[in-house]
Amino acid sequence: MTIDLADAARERGIKYFLISYTDLFGIQRAKLVPASAIAGMQKNGAGFAGFASWLDMTPADPDVLAIPDPSSLIQLPWKREVGWLAADPWMAGKPVEQAPRLVLQRAMAASDAAMQTGVECEFFLIAPDGTALADGSDRQAKPCYDQSALMRRYDVITEICDAMLELGWGPYQNDHEDANGQFEMNWHYAPALTTADRHVFFKYMVKAIAEKHGMRATFMPKPFIDLTGSGCHAHVSLWRGGVNLFDDPNGELGLSATAYQFIGGVLANAGALCALTNPAVNSYKRLNAPSTTSGSTWAPNAISYGGNNRTHMIRIPDAGRFEFRLADGAANPYLLQAGLLVAGMDGIAQARDPGQRLDINMYTDGHTVNGIQRLPLNLLDALRSLEGSAVLRAGLGDALVDAYTKLKYREWNDYTRHLTQWERDSTLDC
Ligand SMILES: [Mg+2]
Repeated sequence: MTIDLADAARERGIKYFLISYTDLFGIQRAKLVPASAIAGMQKNGAGFAGFASWLDMTPADPDVLAIPDPSSLIQLPWKREVGWLAADPWMAGKPVEQAPRLVLQRAMAASDAAMQTGVECEFFLIAPDGTALADGSDRQAKPCYDQSALMRRYDVITEICDAMLELGWGPYQNDHEDANGQFEMNWHYAPALTTADRHVFFKYMVKAIAEKHGMRATFMPKPFIDLTGSGCHAHVSLWRGGVNLFDDPNGELGLSATAYQFIGGVLANAGALCALTNPAVNSYKRLNAPSTTSGSTWAPNAISYGGNNRTHMIRIPDAGRFEFRLADGAANPYLLQAGLLVAGMDGIAQARDPGQRLDINMYTDGHTVNGIQRLPLNLLDALRSLEGSAVLRAGLGDALVDAYTKLKYREWNDYTRHLTQWERDSTLDC
């Protein structure tokens, strides 16, 4: 039964609703609507000028109406009078084809099985001006799981974790990650759309609560060049009728033939997927990167898979699921899920063979493997791969791929127009 938002406002003491949609660059756009106006907005949506966000529209286009999904309602645990709602943009009576949340829903509807995922969103706590870590004492060369640095951030981390407990997400662990100032918080996996909604909300929540405590949270993939970057690993399984189709006690490492085909699809489409999972110019300073001060980047440097081995793009840590280690903190939560699902289902449809898994340390011995495919070296490579990908075009829609690549090529061009100190240093004496 659909939740009546006006009733929910009365019952829960919600005074305002944030009607929020996520644009192509993963930015959340919202209107703050008083509860007295929510009944009309629930039916007709909140109005936005589409050109004013990253949706690839023009100033001449009519209003975008963001229609809230009442089942996504989250009462902000740190500000209970506000209810957050994920919304889907419509224009001229039709869904906006390239809107990321709608792209994911379309991909899910086209699949005859349901993907479940959990995401591990790493982030840094930094000073409000963005220049330094918030914790100047966090200086260990190997800071991962540093108990003291974790406990110095107890108030922020537990406020976020308490919120997830209250929201019923099933959080189960929090830690200091491999870079100074970097943290990760894990909650239970769920169907792809639920995880994507939680992922966008998590990013907002972490930023909002960090700000409350006088800090700034960033999910930027590589904010400090010598430190490990922020990944967004996804753990993936595929379900039908309550059965995990990836589970096979007799299969290699406990995975079924279907799981290996799905992995084959992700490997075959990884170059194009990169444009969605690693969408920033900065993303490519995390991938293919030299070792960090901790001793490892923990990020993939090639299109490969292995067993319980964190040097590969895909890790099989356990029976019944795999870990996709490519994505980073800049990934659009909806396009990450949609891209993975489309690539994996293509693997099943085409019965793609992932080849033999590699049991080597890719960082030290990757060069010994013949014919291994490399990841894109930069955003431009990845965008070209996405633009030419028949598989992702079929699964995500031409509208998405065309709008996304158009705006991202502009971003790339904007980046290349900057004159850097490195260019001057290396070219002045040419
Ligand atoms: Mg991690």
